Amino acid sequence: MGESEFDVVVIGGGSTGTAVARDCAMRGLRTLLLERDDIASATVGTCAGMISSGFKYRDEPDIMEMCSKEVVHFNHIARHIIMKTPILAPFKSMSDVASDGAYVDAYSDHAKERDVPSMLFLTPEASLEIEPKLHPDLIASVYYEEFFIDPFRLCLLQALDAIKHGAIVKTYCEVVDIETDSAKGTVDGVVFYNRVTGSIEKVRSKIVVNAAGPWAHKVAEFADASLELRLNKGAHVIFDRRIVNVGITVRALDGRWVYLFPHENTTLLGTTALDTWEDPDSLVASFDEIEYLLQSIESLIPSIREARIIRTMAGVRPLVPDWNVPEEKVTRGYQVIDHESRDKLKGLISFTGGKLVTCRHMAEAATNLVCEKLGKKTKCTTHEKPLPGNEDVVDVIALAKEYDISLHALERMRARRGTEMVKVLELTKEHPEWKTTICTCEPIIEAEIRYAIREEFPQTLNDLRRRLRLGTGPCQGTFCTYKAASILSEELDLGGDDYLVDILDFRSERWKGIRQSMRGEQLAQEELAQGMYACVGNLDQSDVDYDLKPWEEMS
Ligand SMILES: Cc1cc2nc3c(=O)[nH]c(=O)nc-3n(C[C@H](O)[C@H](O)[C@H](O)COP(=O)(O)OP(=O)(O)OC[C@H]3O[C@@H](n4cnc5c(N)ncnc54)[C@H](O)[C@@H]3O)c2cc1C
Repeated sequence: MGESEFDVVVIGGGSTGTAVARDCAMRGLRTLLLERDDIASATVGTCAGMISSGFKYRDEPDIMEMCSKEVVHFNHIARHIIMKTPILAPFKSMSDVASDGAYVDAYSDHAKERDVPSMLFLTPEASLEIEPKLHPDLIASVYYEEFFIDPFRLCLLQALDAIKHGAIVKTYCEVVDIETDSAKGTVDGVVFYNRVTGSIEKVRSKIVVNAAGPWAHKVAEFADASLELRLNKGAHVIFDRRIVNVGITVRALDGRWVYLFPHENTTLLGTTALDTWEDPDSLVASFDEIEYLLQSIESLIPSIREARIIRTMAGVRPLVPDWNVPEEKVTRGYQVIDHESRDKLKGLISFTGGKLVTCRHMAEAATNLVCEKLGKKTKCTTHEKPLPGNEDVVDVIALAKEYDISLHALERMRARRGTEMVKVLELTKEHPEWKTTICTCEPIIEAEIRYAIREEFPQTLNDLRRRLRLGTGPCQGTFCTYKAASILSEELDLGGDDYLVDILDFRSERWKGIRQSMRGEQLAQEELAQGMYACVGNLDQSDVDYDLKPWEEMS
């Protein structure tokens, strides 16, 4: 087979698509993954990253069991990018305690296999000792533990592992057509627009897996195939630091559950869940959603409005199209659609539904079907073989001494790369000046930025953000954007205009999430950012042909 002939083309580089590409490549299939933007640039990048025990889905025991098992698998293959978070669910009335008691059994049934304790009831005193920000009128709380994964790193590691097993991964390549042979009723290949080269390219493939998330119905249309989704919007509010000691889950104003989770160096308040007909490409959290979340959590964390909101984010869940039930009752399970039986089109496979936590399971099911169609009998091993960096534990204290870099910076680096961090540190032997901290919020040193550019195929500052959490802290990129842009331009040999456009793209992307939530101290922070980039940097006066809108609206 040549470079343009594949067994399988996967469309979409989110959690689902990267998991499918990894599984297909590990089973020896010649695999191409096409992503129209960057890896993890859509829905998965807006999620909370909880690899949930699934106890919320106790009405669907199969899904609960699947989630619980997947947590065990992730802890085996990706331990280095996972955090365990203790959570309190405080109650202010006896009726809540009674109605939520059933969750306790559902959670505790599978607790042992996930290596967490069973759920515990705590007194108000014990609850307040753990989290003094709680409302003192609580009557009890439930304590439990869940795992969280870095969704950006998970997708990237899945993509890198796919490459390691022979797959080709192309970002900034948008599929614009699926070619079919109508006489045979088969898929023939795909046509895509390569945004890097500006060219239209074609590849042949026996199978096409449509993992395009909330765009999957549009991708199916390219092959005249039918696919329905129930699109569901979710928004998060993000605070500048870990404002609570543990995760807090409470009943919202309308009885739904909302949460406040410490997440990396920040805290996430979420989430809304609304049927949506908005375009997933231009989605932002609304003022209503922000207020709903703040009011909901305020009853149990009264000081929430004093905390500093740095931004919001919103995404669309591509749910199974069951319209006979209210949103919260729609299954969080998934379907693998074989268009051979549905549309008499052999070789096209699509997904509906699913979650981040089930992405490996979804990939296994789809790859089993791919193998069946191709007459291959290889078994799935994605739950056994570690993702890059998870091969061993890392002695961060010893590395901090050896390389004379702060323990804090190295611990954050470990949480991104596990054993692979040694490759970053090796760079500093030849270039000790690359120990310089570029992003102080995270923190990130120059050597890691250079390593990511060389090994993890970012094309822009936004891609670097997804690789490293660059610019995601309290200053939202005010102090690291221009420094990181210089390193990126040097490594990728970018021209002056590209350098400026990239800075503006990055600032605009940050602005998209900051605008709705801007209040209090964050106003001063944004004023400083505007002062530096628009006034001192003169970036609103440049001759470069960029979209001025966000900056114009500020003035
Ligand atoms: C607010 C929110 C919170 C959530 N929290 C959690 C959680 O805590 N835990 C959990 O398990 N799940 C959570 N989820 C659900 C989870 O995020 C999604 O189910 C999952 O990430 C979907 O991944 P995906 O790969 O299917 O979709 P996406 O991440 O959207 O990936 C699809 C990709 O396809 C690409 N694409 C589209 N069209 C084309 C084309 N024509 N050519 C090439 N590429 C194309 C897109 O650019 C995109 O990158 C949450 C969802 C939301 C919205």
